[in-house]
Amino acid sequence: MELLSGRRVIVDAERPPLEHAAVLVDGGVIVAVGPTAELVAAHPDVGHRAFGDATVLPGLVNAHVHLSFDVTGDPVPPLRDGDHDALRATIRANAASVLAAGITTVRDLGDRDGLVAALRDDVATGAVPGPRVLTAGAPLTPPGGHCWFLDGVVEPEDVRAAVAARAAAGLDVVKVMASGGMMTPAGPGIADTQFDLPTLQRVVEAAREVGLPVAVHAHGTASIAMAARAGADTIEHAGWYAPGGGRDPDDAVAELVAASGAVTVPTKFRGWPEWPDRAEARERQRWADAHGIPVLVGNDAGAGQGRFDDLHEAMTWYVEVGWTPAQVLAAATCRSADRLGLGDVTGRLVPGLAADVIVVDGDPLADISALRSLRLVHPADRRG
Ligand SMILES: [Zn+2]
Repeated sequence: MELLSGRRVIVDAERPPLEHAAVLVDGGVIVAVGPTAELVAAHPDVGHRAFGDATVLPGLVNAHVHLSFDVTGDPVPPLRDGDHDALRATIRANAASVLAAGITTVRDLGDRDGLVAALRDDVATGAVPGPRVLTAGAPLTPPGGHCWFLDGVVEPEDVRAAVAARAAAGLDVVKVMASGGMMTPAGPGIADTQFDLPTLQRVVEAAREVGLPVAVHAHGTASIAMAARAGADTIEHAGWYAPGGGRDPDDAVAELVAASGAVTVPTKFRGWPEWPDRAEARERQRWADAHGIPVLVGNDAGAGQGRFDDLHEAMTWYVEVGWTPAQVLAAATCRSADRLGLGDVTGRLVPGLAADVIVVDGDPLADISALRSLRLVHPADRRG
């Protein structure tokens, strides 16, 4: 057992922190949380790591990554060619980078041949270091569709079988491409739809039958509307693109999304086309917020220039939009855990949950950039 103490402990980002508090961990599990003096007195023989003025908080969740994508070069060739050795090496390096940055859970929304699922299982047994992983495997896409090279190509009439195969393979979530994207040359455009509403509805129905959530990739407003109507659990990117260029933040579609119960993951990272145009993008996010559309934090790490070791950039974005640091932290910890089906596993520092604990200098509730001053990630390898 080990006691980790700091100036404050953020037990749950939606509640006030505990002052002068500590977390007692036993391997991979939280045993107790409370005032440091009380826990020290109750456990005099346990090793105590006192972090002074620092903040102890739950590990972060990145709700949208691609561990198999090599950010240092063009990720497409090894994916397209199915070069398993290259992909495994990339996945392991990225997983280590994620964990070292204090991100203790990721949801991987597209690789090929189940390689990320193998990493997930290796991490769970302690064979390799990495974050907890939820994985979609290969995204469903029509012939020639977005990211066809991930090998998830399926004819519309076969989507039910494809969903069943994912459940049988032990995958955690079904990913389906309802719009084009930017990394598929000659594929559909970013505002174009792929599949149609009945096909997406069959995907969701089939996923419900096997108990899997559905993540729908949807950049354009038309695809966002389809995703909401089909019953998507999460809507990825949600860029509100209009056909023919520009944006189309449509109030009726926003109301549809808010009423649908779906949560959006507006992937934010430097290098995204809208990044230089931040004023307009901020205004659009405020518009979505005003409609009550919930958000999880994700940065599409691996795609474009989304980094594995930096979720702060995406989190800072929401502070710029007007969220409090506590709201952003909640979106990247407890809210993500709840929405991704992990609320009884991680996202808060309470006894019985996994000891996904990070320590940062300063107070991230006052200044979100404190997350960049990481002192500790526990457990360092997820073993135990
Ligand atoms: Zn993605």
